[in-house]
Amino acid sequence: MIIVARKDITADQIDYIRERVEGAGLRTHISIGESRTIIGCIGDEARLANLPLLSIPGVQSVHPVMRPYKLAARGFSADPTTTVRVGDHSFGGPRCLVAAGPCSVEGSPMMFETGRAVAESGASLLRGGAFKPRTSPYSFDGLKEEGLRILSSVRSETGLPVVTEVLDPRDAELVASYADMLQIGARNMQNFSLLREVGQLQRPVLLKRGMSATLKDLLLAAEYVMSRGNMQVVLCERGIRTFGAETRNTFDLAAIPWLKMETHLPVIADPSHAGGRRDLVAPLSYAALAAGADGLIVEVHPDPETAMSDGDQSLTFAEFADLMDSLTVFAEAAGRSM
Ligand code: PEP
Ligand code: MN
Repeated sequence: MIIVARKDITADQIDYIRERVEGAGLRTHISIGESRTIIGCIGDEARLANLPLLSIPGVQSVHPVMRPYKLAARGFSADPTTTVRVGDHSFGGPRCLVAAGPCSVEGSPMMFETGRAVAESGASLLRGGAFKPRTSPYSFDGLKEEGLRILSSVRSETGLPVVTEVLDPRDAELVASYADMLQIGARNMQNFSLLREVGQLQRPVLLKRGMSATLKDLLLAAEYVMSRGNMQVVLCERGIRTFGAETRNTFDLAAIPWLKMETHLPVIADPSHAGGRRDLVAPLSYAALAAGADGLIVEVHPDPETAMSDGDQSLTFAEFADLMDSLTVFAEAAGRSM
């Protein structure tokens, strides 16, 4: 249930509504936006049946939420897009943000080199996996805590906040102690214990769409995190599995505007994993921004040929600089800036 408050509602009136709703056994979530205030009610709506909500002072209107996800639903927030702050930047604000860096943290020199290069080209965040999900158990699976330490020292030098993947609920606190944003990868989008765990941490979450997940599955995964109290979720379209073998995944462009209509959470795109090829990164990035994405996450490596993972789709520093130079027009097409 969504309670839309009158413009002139007072803090005491909000408290009173909250008490009544919580007294009926539901939880509340208050969202105060620029032009309106929303009191979201989470729980069994039938319990509100005997509460004359419309007659309570300060209430303007009451709307049931028919969606299976509530906190993530667009109407649940007073603003069309909530902003998720990471370091000095906000996903979902007027500027589109780009996170860039290698697939895996391979060592200290390559991370410093990459951090400096992507910062110079205008990236807002540094990416790099320290805990890597690998299809084969024999593949390189990351430097673990050593990788996290490297990421954090590159942040100290470049000022770039760090986004890195957490694979296991047992590592969530450790990763959160180094990272500015926790990535939940495609393979873990429905790892419900991991979602609950990051829901308890006050760290922004980058939630990537599972390879066979519907958009509803993605929003319900976000709901897991949010229902534990962590509202700072950014969604990521990274391509899904289809019958096509020519690209690594099938980039679902329509997911971006559909999600932007359905949820208030910021939505970004990962053109690297979607296409799986370096030469597809720029066109997919253009399409994503023109379709309204709030940003991108892009793989960049000092020497893609020798990368320990995802070299084929990683941009060189020069290619990344060119990409950053060419994005403005596409962001502007969607009313945004870079
Ligand atoms: C990654 O970002 O390196 C990654 C493994 O992505 P995904 O979970 O989307 O495959
Ligand atoms: Mn990768």
